Amino acid sequence: MQAFILANEAVIRLGFFLGIFALMATWEILAPRRILTISKSIRWLNNIGLVAFNTFLLRLLFPAAAVGFAAVASEQGWGLFNLIELPFWLVVLLSVVIMDFVIWLQHVMVHAVPLLWRLHRVHHADLDYDLTTGARFHPLEILLSMLIKFATIMVLGPPVIAVIIFEIVLNGMAMFNHANVKLPAGLDRLLRWFFVTPDMHRVHHSVEDDEANSNFGFNLSLWDRLFGTYRDQPRAGHEGMTIGIRKLREPKQVAWLPGLLMLPFIGKLSGYTINRRQWDEE
Ligand SMILES: [Zn+2]
Ligand SMILES: [Zn+2]
Repeated sequence: MQAFILANEAVIRLGFFLGIFALMATWEILAPRRILTISKSIRWLNNIGLVAFNTFLLRLLFPAAAVGFAAVASEQGWGLFNLIELPFWLVVLLSVVIMDFVIWLQHVMVHAVPLLWRLHRVHHADLDYDLTTGARFHPLEILLSMLIKFATIMVLGPPVIAVIIFEIVLNGMAMFNHANVKLPAGLDRLLRWFFVTPDMHRVHHSVEDDEANSNFGFNLSLWDRLFGTYRDQPRAGHEGMTIGIRKLREPKQVAWLPGLLMLPFIGKLSGYTINRRQWDEE
Protein backbone atom coordinates (compact mmCIF):
# COMPACT_ATOMS: atom_id res chain seq x y z
CA MET A 1 0.00 0.00 0.00
CA GLN A 2 2.65 2.49 1.06
CA ALA A 3 4.92 1.55 -1.85
CA PHE A 4 2.00 2.06 -4.25
CA ILE A 5 1.27 5.51 -2.79
CA LEU A 6 4.92 6.53 -2.99
CA ALA A 7 5.26 5.33 -6.57
CA ASN A 8 2.09 7.13 -7.71
CA GLU A 9 2.27 10.16 -5.47
CA ALA A 10 1.90 12.79 -8.22
CA VAL A 11 -1.05 11.03 -9.88
CA ILE A 12 -2.82 10.47 -6.54
CA ARG A 13 -2.40 14.13 -5.59
CA LEU A 14 -3.63 15.31 -8.99
CA GLY A 15 -6.61 12.97 -8.70
CA PHE A 16 -7.61 14.37 -5.31
CA PHE A 17 -7.10 17.92 -6.58
CA LEU A 18 -9.29 17.44 -9.67
CA GLY A 19 -11.95 15.49 -7.76
CA ILE A 20 -12.30 18.05 -4.97
CA PHE A 21 -12.09 20.93 -7.46
CA ALA A 22 -14.95 19.48 -9.54
CA LEU A 23 -17.05 18.83 -6.44
CA MET A 24 -16.62 22.30 -4.92
CA ALA A 25 -16.97 24.07 -8.31
CA THR A 26 -20.29 22.30 -8.93
CA TRP A 27 -21.50 23.16 -5.42
CA GLU A 28 -20.56 26.83 -5.95
CA ILE A 29 -22.44 26.98 -9.25
CA LEU A 30 -25.56 25.28 -7.89
CA ALA A 31 -25.77 27.11 -4.55
CA PRO A 32 -23.45 30.14 -4.30
CA ARG A 33 -23.13 31.78 -0.86
CA ARG A 34 -22.44 35.31 -2.18
CA ILE A 35 -22.83 37.03 -5.55
CA LEU A 36 -19.42 37.48 -7.23
CA THR A 37 -18.27 41.02 -8.05
CA ILE A 38 -15.92 39.87 -10.83
CA SER A 39 -17.16 37.35 -13.41
CA LYS A 40 -16.27 33.74 -12.76
CA SER A 41 -14.50 33.37 -16.11
CA ILE A 42 -12.14 36.30 -15.39
CA ARG A 43 -11.54 35.01 -11.85
CA TRP A 44 -10.76 31.49 -12.97
CA LEU A 45 -8.59 32.60 -15.89
CA ASN A 46 -6.34 34.71 -13.66
CA ASN A 47 -6.38 32.78 -10.39
CA ILE A 48 -5.82 29.43 -12.10
CA GLY A 49 -3.24 31.09 -14.37
CA LEU A 50 -1.31 32.06 -11.24
CA VAL A 51 -1.61 28.52 -9.85
CA ALA A 52 -0.29 27.06 -13.12
CA PHE A 53 2.64 29.49 -13.08
CA ASN A 54 3.44 28.58 -9.43
CA THR A 55 3.23 24.86 -10.15
CA PHE A 56 5.61 25.24 -13.09
CA LEU A 57 8.03 27.33 -11.00
CA LEU A 58 8.01 24.88 -8.08
CA ARG A 59 8.60 21.86 -10.33
CA LEU A 60 11.49 23.75 -11.89
CA LEU A 61 13.13 24.80 -8.62
CA PHE A 62 12.23 21.84 -6.39
CA PRO A 63 11.40 18.90 -8.66
CA ALA A 64 10.98 16.49 -5.73
CA ALA A 65 9.24 19.06 -3.49
CA ALA A 66 8.38 18.39 0.14
CA VAL A 67 7.75 14.69 -0.41
CA GLY A 68 11.20 14.16 -1.93
CA PHE A 69 12.75 16.14 0.87
CA ALA A 70 10.99 13.97 3.47
CA ALA A 71 12.40 10.86 1.74
CA VAL A 72 15.94 12.28 1.99
CA ALA A 73 15.38 13.22 5.65
CA SER A 74 14.25 9.71 6.56
CA GLU A 75 17.18 8.09 4.67
CA GLN A 76 19.57 10.36 6.52
CA GLY A 77 17.83 9.84 9.85
CA TRP A 78 17.17 13.57 10.30
CA GLY A 79 14.59 14.89 12.70
CA LEU A 80 12.79 14.09 15.92
CA PHE A 81 10.68 11.16 14.70
CA ASN A 82 13.76 9.39 13.32
CA LEU A 83 15.27 9.47 16.81
CA ILE A 84 12.40 8.37 19.03
CA GLU A 85 10.41 5.11 18.96
CA LEU A 86 6.65 5.57 18.66
CA PRO A 87 3.89 3.55 16.96
CA PHE A 88 3.85 4.36 13.24
CA TRP A 89 0.21 5.52 13.16
CA LEU A 90 0.91 7.92 16.03
CA VAL A 91 3.95 9.36 14.27
CA VAL A 92 1.86 9.94 11.13
CA LEU A 93 -0.93 11.59 13.12
CA LEU A 94 1.44 13.79 15.15
CA SER A 95 3.37 14.76 12.01
CA VAL A 96 0.22 15.94 10.22
CA VAL A 97 -1.01 17.88 13.29
CA ILE A 98 2.39 19.52 13.92
CA MET A 99 2.79 20.49 10.26
CA ASP A 100 -0.66 22.08 10.48
CA PHE A 101 0.46 24.05 13.54
CA VAL A 102 3.59 25.27 11.72
CA ILE A 103 1.52 26.49 8.79
CA TRP A 104 -0.80 28.29 11.24
CA LEU A 105 2.23 30.02 12.80
CA GLN A 106 3.54 30.89 9.35
CA HIS A 107 0.18 32.42 8.48
CA VAL A 108 0.23 34.63 11.60
CA MET A 109 3.80 35.64 10.73
CA VAL A 110 2.96 36.77 7.17
CA HIS A 111 0.24 39.01 8.63
CA ALA A 112 2.59 40.44 11.28
CA VAL A 113 5.76 41.22 9.31
CA PRO A 114 5.27 44.13 6.88
CA LEU A 115 7.55 42.75 4.16
CA LEU A 116 5.85 39.34 4.25
CA TRP A 117 2.39 40.90 4.31
CA ARG A 118 3.25 42.37 0.89
CA LEU A 119 3.47 38.85 -0.46
CA HIS A 120 0.48 37.49 1.43
CA ARG A 121 -1.82 40.34 0.36
CA VAL A 122 -2.01 38.74 -3.10
CA HIS A 123 -4.15 36.08 -1.38
CA HIS A 124 -6.22 38.68 0.48
CA ALA A 125 -6.69 41.22 -2.33
CA ASP A 126 -9.14 38.91 -4.09
CA LEU A 127 -12.43 40.88 -4.29
CA ASP A 128 -14.41 37.66 -4.10
CA TYR A 129 -14.09 34.42 -2.24
CA ASP A 130 -14.28 31.14 -4.12
CA LEU A 131 -12.35 27.90 -4.40
CA THR A 132 -9.72 29.50 -6.65
CA THR A 133 -8.92 32.04 -3.89
CA GLY A 134 -7.61 29.08 -1.91
CA ALA A 135 -4.68 28.55 -4.26
CA ARG A 136 -4.03 32.20 -5.11
CA PHE A 137 -0.60 33.00 -3.66
CA HIS A 138 2.29 35.06 -4.98
CA PRO A 139 5.17 32.87 -6.30
CA LEU A 140 7.49 34.35 -3.67
CA GLU A 141 5.12 33.32 -0.87
CA ILE A 142 4.94 29.83 -2.39
CA LEU A 143 8.76 29.66 -2.29
CA LEU A 144 8.82 30.92 1.30
CA SER A 145 6.25 28.25 2.25
CA MET A 146 8.34 25.55 0.62
CA LEU A 147 11.49 26.59 2.50
CA ILE A 148 9.59 26.63 5.81
CA LYS A 149 8.21 23.18 4.96
CA PHE A 150 11.74 21.88 4.29
CA ALA A 151 12.94 23.27 7.62
CA THR A 152 9.98 21.70 9.42
CA ILE A 153 10.68 18.33 7.80
CA MET A 154 14.36 18.51 8.81
CA VAL A 155 13.48 19.18 12.45
CA LEU A 156 10.50 16.84 12.65
CA GLY A 157 11.55 13.93 10.43
CA PRO A 158 7.97 12.96 9.47
CA PRO A 159 7.36 9.73 7.51
CA VAL A 160 7.04 10.38 3.76
CA ILE A 161 3.46 9.14 3.85
CA ALA A 162 2.58 11.80 6.47
CA VAL A 163 3.90 14.53 4.18
CA ILE A 164 1.84 13.17 1.27
CA ILE A 165 -1.28 13.02 3.47
CA PHE A 166 -0.64 16.56 4.69
CA GLU A 167 -0.19 17.93 1.17
CA ILE A 168 -3.42 16.29 -0.02
CA VAL A 169 -5.40 17.41 3.04
CA LEU A 170 -4.06 20.99 2.90
CA ASN A 171 -4.77 21.27 -0.81
CA GLY A 172 -8.28 19.80 -0.46
CA MET A 173 -9.14 21.83 2.64
CA ALA A 174 -7.94 25.06 0.98
CA MET A 175 -10.44 24.49 -1.84
CA PHE A 176 -13.18 23.48 0.60
CA ASN A 177 -12.80 26.32 3.09
CA HIS A 178 -12.42 29.03 0.42
CA ALA A 179 -15.50 27.82 -1.45
CA ASN A 180 -18.39 30.19 -2.06
CA VAL A 181 -20.78 27.77 -0.37
CA LYS A 182 -22.84 27.48 2.76
CA LEU A 183 -23.07 24.46 5.01
CA PRO A 184 -26.26 23.91 7.03
CA ALA A 185 -25.81 25.91 10.27
CA GLY A 186 -25.83 22.85 12.52
CA LEU A 187 -23.28 21.00 10.43
CA ASP A 188 -21.05 24.10 10.28
CA ARG A 189 -21.13 24.41 14.07
CA LEU A 190 -20.36 20.73 14.54
CA LEU A 191 -17.51 20.62 11.99
CA ARG A 192 -15.97 23.78 13.44
CA TRP A 193 -15.19 22.07 16.69
CA PHE A 194 -12.48 20.26 14.75
CA PHE A 195 -12.04 21.73 11.27
CA VAL A 196 -12.01 25.07 9.47
CA THR A 197 -15.26 25.58 7.52
CA PRO A 198 -15.95 28.01 4.62
CA ASP A 199 -17.84 30.40 6.93
CA MET A 200 -15.03 30.29 9.48
CA HIS A 201 -12.23 31.15 7.03
CA ARG A 202 -14.35 33.73 5.17
CA VAL A 203 -14.14 35.93 8.29
CA HIS A 204 -10.36 36.05 7.69
CA HIS A 205 -10.92 37.59 4.23
CA SER A 206 -12.89 40.58 5.54
CA VAL A 207 -11.68 44.13 4.83
CA GLU A 208 -12.10 44.81 8.58
CA ASP A 209 -8.70 44.62 10.34
CA ASP A 210 -9.90 42.81 13.44
CA GLU A 211 -11.74 40.22 11.37
CA ALA A 212 -8.80 39.68 8.99
CA ASN A 213 -6.61 39.12 12.05
CA SER A 214 -8.74 36.16 13.07
CA ASN A 215 -9.11 32.55 11.98
CA PHE A 216 -5.61 31.91 10.62
CA GLY A 217 -6.15 28.13 10.48
CA PHE A 218 -6.35 26.16 7.24
CA ASN A 219 -7.22 22.70 8.53
CA LEU A 220 -7.77 22.37 12.29
CA SER A 221 -9.81 25.04 14.08
CA LEU A 222 -7.94 24.14 17.26
CA TRP A 223 -5.07 26.62 16.86
CA ASP A 224 -7.26 29.73 16.64
CA ARG A 225 -9.33 28.59 19.60
CA LEU A 226 -6.24 27.72 21.63
CA PHE A 227 -4.26 30.88 20.89
CA GLY A 228 -7.14 33.35 21.06
CA THR A 229 -7.55 34.35 17.41
CA TYR A 230 -10.91 32.67 16.88
CA ARG A 231 -13.80 34.79 15.56
CA ASP A 232 -17.21 33.24 15.13
CA GLN A 233 -18.90 35.37 12.42
CA PRO A 234 -18.31 38.65 10.52
CA ARG A 235 -20.15 41.67 11.99
CA ALA A 236 -21.83 42.50 8.66
CA GLY A 237 -22.89 38.89 8.05
CA HIS A 238 -21.60 36.61 5.31
CA GLU A 239 -23.71 38.22 2.57
CA GLY A 240 -23.14 41.79 3.75
CA MET A 241 -19.40 41.72 4.53
CA THR A 242 -16.84 43.17 2.12
CA ILE A 243 -14.10 40.78 0.96
CA GLY A 244 -10.56 41.91 0.16
CA ILE A 245 -8.24 44.73 1.24
CA ARG A 246 -9.77 48.13 1.89
CA LYS A 247 -7.48 50.21 -0.31
CA LEU A 248 -6.84 47.69 -3.07
CA ARG A 249 -10.06 47.58 -5.10
CA GLU A 250 -8.88 48.18 -8.68
CA PRO A 251 -9.63 45.00 -10.74
CA LYS A 252 -6.60 45.59 -12.96
CA GLN A 253 -4.42 45.38 -9.86
CA VAL A 254 -6.20 42.70 -7.85
CA ALA A 255 -7.97 40.49 -10.40
CA TRP A 256 -5.63 40.31 -13.40
CA LEU A 257 -2.46 38.24 -13.36
CA PRO A 258 0.10 40.99 -14.21
CA GLY A 259 -1.34 43.17 -11.42
CA LEU A 260 -1.22 40.26 -8.97
CA LEU A 261 2.44 39.54 -9.72
CA MET A 262 3.30 43.22 -9.17
CA LEU A 263 1.20 43.62 -6.02
CA PRO A 264 4.06 43.01 -3.50
CA PHE A 265 6.07 45.83 -5.01
CA ILE A 266 3.60 48.73 -4.81
CA GLY A 267 2.92 51.19 -1.99
CA LYS A 268 4.73 51.95 1.26
CA LEU A 269 6.40 49.18 3.24
CA SER A 270 4.65 50.35 6.37
CA GLY A 271 1.23 49.41 4.98
CA TYR A 272 -1.29 47.59 7.15
CA THR A 273 -0.14 44.62 9.20
CA ILE A 274 -1.11 43.35 12.63
CA ASN A 275 -0.99 46.11 15.23
CA ARG A 276 0.02 48.82 12.74
CA ARG A 277 -3.41 50.14 11.94
CA GLN A 278 -3.59 53.56 10.41
CA TRP A 279 -6.70 54.92 12.03
CA ASP A 280 -6.18 58.43 10.71
CA GLU A 281 -6.53 57.21 7.15
CA GLU A 282 -9.70 55.24 7.70
ZN1 LIG B 1 -4.18 35.53 5.66
ZN1 LIG C 1 -7.56 32.41 2.72
